[in-house]
Order: sequence, then structure tokens, then C-alpha cells
Amino acid sequence: MNNQQSTELLFELSKPGRRCHRLPACDVPETRPVSDLLPANHLAATSPSLPEVAEIDLIRHFNNLSTRNMCIDTNFYPLGSCTMKYNPKRHERWATSPGFANLHPLQEDDTCQGMLELLYEMQQYLCEISGLHAVSLQPAAGAQGELTALFVAAAYFRDIGQNQRKRVLIPDSAHGTNPASAALAGFEAIKIKSDTQGLVDLEDLKKHLDDRLAVFMITNPNTLGLFERQIQTITDLIHAYGGLVYLDGANMNAILGITRPGDFGADMQHYNVHKTFTGPHGGGGPGSGPITVRQHLAPYLPTPIVVREGDRYRLDYNRPKSIGRVRSFFGNVGILFRGYCYIRTLGPDGLKAVSENAVLNANYLLARLKHAYEIPHGDRCMHEFVASARLLRREKKISAMEICKRLLDFGYHAPTVYFPLVVPEALMIEPTETESKETLDAFADTLLKIREEPAEFLQKAPHTLSISRPDEVKAAKEPILRWKPAVG
Ligand SMILES: *Cc1c(COP(=O)(O)O)cnc(C)c1O
Repeated sequence: MNNQQSTELLFELSKPGRRCHRLPACDVPETRPVSDLLPANHLAATSPSLPEVAEIDLIRHFNNLSTRNMCIDTNFYPLGSCTMKYNPKRHERWATSPGFANLHPLQEDDTCQGMLELLYEMQQYLCEISGLHAVSLQPAAGAQGELTALFVAAAYFRDIGQNQRKRVLIPDSAHGTNPASAALAGFEAIKIKSDTQGLVDLEDLKKHLDDRLAVFMITNPNTLGLFERQIQTITDLIHAYGGLVYLDGANMNAILGITRPGDFGADMQHYNVHKTFTGPHGGGGPGSGPITVRQHLAPYLPTPIVVREGDRYRLDYNRPKSIGRVRSFFGNVGILFRGYCYIRTLGPDGLKAVSENAVLNANYLLARLKHAYEIPHGDRCMHEFVASARLLRREKKISAMEICKRLLDFGYHAPTVYFPLVVPEALMIEPTETESKETLDAFADTLLKIREEPAEFLQKAPHTLSISRPDEVKAAKEPILRWKPAVG
């Protein structure tokens, strides 16, 4: 979808009478002074000592800080796997409307029926889009969704007397969170090889099928941007051996409305609402990773779940087989809210168009770059593709890192580098559907130009930024978080 088309679409969708026009209202308690609400012994006796700063200095401080952030609103951000798509501003407007923003998580169900209705409908949509039957909105990230689903699987196996199922099989192209979640949930993570095409190696998979099998975690399309064409055979095999299939749904942006994990055999999946359904993210949060599961796993989902009784909604805590809570309250409601707005705005046809255009944009970039950059796994992709700087490194001493550092000079966020691990010198590029042809062309032109630049020049990039090549481990372990006013 180009900019013109997406503007028209949004304009069309925002007309009154479209399905998105009605958002449920909430009863907001009146605001009262804090001293009315808190017992006197919990109130501070004196005001805190805060630095005295003029308003203008404060404004400058925050404005300057904000311009140092690389973000999707300022720059193209082709960070593979992370789906950095445009976050529509209307969602922010809706999310900050007082009826929603002023709710307190401990309010009685009767006083927040609007929000409960919204969360209930979100549960329904997520089930429908995944082709599965029950959902928990609680997990606050994709990784936490994985962990929650594996707890659910463990509870299920315990319940049916198959506690010996302790193995989780994971393709070697998977995101690192998959084996980490398996280990945290008390399973043994076992790596399954990819074949030469970058898909699950069926022969290797078959070697690990026995009654110790608990879960097969698969990302589809996988992190190479390829659809696992043998998915039906794979899920049939796993089920034949009594295992469950978990779908890492981080790449749902490629298949919305086109195919559903439940239809190709997944028993559980997570969504990354912040990726697929436009929650603003970056810098590690905020996220929302709800999971959907098949009917037989529903009793084990975390509590509470929003249920509907007649025209009322309430939180159901009475779920005796539940694994319990995995996060405070109901999950990251702010992000769920934005995802809900996105789904309601676009509707089924709009969501399908999102995926079709995400795939189109990625293939366009791939086609423009494949003569200059090695693309090890074919010349077609889903919503993203992985290029390799292996030959460039060998022949010209230009690594993937050098290319990314140089991209910063042109105002681009770097693609994901050195992931997935199965591709040496990987550059994982995901343009998303919200970018115009002009942006994609400018990015491709830049990458083609960089490829021709001398190695010595690239090895010193970036040339235009105040910080060029920090010691990344040190920067992460010893961050400088104190504000120091500019000197001189
Ligand atoms: C992002 C991602 C995850 C983890 O999701 P978070 O929300 O970052 O915890 C898992 N798998 C894949 C393939 C991802 O891209």
C-alpha cells in the first residue's frame, strides 16, 4: 500500500457509520484530592525536594532527548522480525480518552463494562484470526507468551498423566526466546536442523519423535522469511506422537487473513500485538503477547479471563485447572487497546491487505537488492528476507556490521544483524506494508551505493553521528542515566 492509498483508506474508514466509529464508554470515578483517598499516616509530611528548573529548560531537555531517539515516526526502520510498522495516531488519541485512560485496574467489574467489552471482543478477534478457540490476554511480551503457553502445555501433560513428555523441539532458525522459554518452563530444548532451503529438515525432525516429545515450537513464516510449506505434514507428525504444536506468531504480519495457524495444525500460538497490530515499541517495550489455544488446553490458561453473561462482562477467576496469573491485572491493556483499534479499523479485508502489501514490499526490496547482495535462501520471500554479507566480508572485508553502521549516516535504522544464526553475516530486512515505493527505492539505492564504497571508509562508519562505535557490552552494563546539562 503506498502512502496515498493508506491515507485514503484511513480516511474512508474513519467516516461515521463504519464499524470503527463506536467505542464503548466507561464510567469514570470523579477525581478527588489525594488526601481524601489515602489515610493520613501514608501521606508525606513535607514536599519532596525537586530541582528547580525553568519550564523552558525542562521543555528543551525533553525535546532534545526525544530527537535523539531513532523512531518509526522519523526514519525508515527495517528491523527484521520486529515489524516496525507505522503506529496510527488515532489510536493514541483513542487510548488517551479519559474513559479508558483513567480506569483503575482494581475497579469493580460493574464500573468498567466498556473496557471489559473491548477486552472480550479482542479475545474473540484473536481467536478468529488464529483459528484457535481460547485466549489469555495476560502475557506482556511474545517471550512471556511462549513461557505461558509452555506452562499450559506442562499442566496439560501432567493432567493427562504424561509427565514424561519433557522435550521441546525447536528449529535452529528460531528466535533465541524459544529455547530460553523452554528451559525456563522446565523442558529440555532440542535443536532441529534446517535443510538447504532454510526449512525444517524433516529427516532430522523424525529422529526426535517419541513419547518424550512435549512441544514442537515453530515460527511460520520462519525467521528467514520463508513459509514452511510442509507445515501440515509436520503438525500431523507431531500429533501422531502425542505432542503439541506451538506457533511463534511474531511473523503473523505475513499471513493475516490468508491462512490461520489453527487451520494448519497449531495447538497454541502467541501474538506480538506490538508488532503485528501496531503497539508502539522499541527499546524493549511495552509489549503484549496474548496466547490463543485449542479447546482442550483452555482450562489451563491463566486467570482471569473476560467472560460475557447476557449483555454484561466480568472477570472470571473460577478456573480450577488454571496455571494462575502470569502478570499483574489483565496484561498490557494499553497495547491491547491499540491493537483492538487497529483490528476494528481495518476489518477482515483490511488485515488481509496488510499482509499482501507487507509481502509485496519485501519482495520488491529483495528484487532490487539480489544482484548486489547475496540472498542465500531463494529469490522470493514472505514479509521479510535475510541477505548475507559473507562474500563481501571475504572479498572486500566489509561485514554486515559495517553496512549497518554506514546506513546510520543516511538516517536509516539498521536491519537486524547476525540473526538468524543459520545465516553468516546476516542482514534481516523487513520493510512492512506502511512504506511507500519511494522510501523502498531510496533505501535500496543507498544499500547499492554502500556496496561500492571502499572498505577502509566503511570500517570507520558512521561518519556523521556523535557516537560511532561504542563498546556495546559496556554501554548495556554501565548505562549513563543521569542528566547532565550541556556545558559551555
Ligand atoms: C520478537 C520475537 C519474539 C519475542 O517477542 P517479544 O515480544 O520481543 O518478547 C519471539 N520470536 C520471534 C520470531 C520474534 O521476532
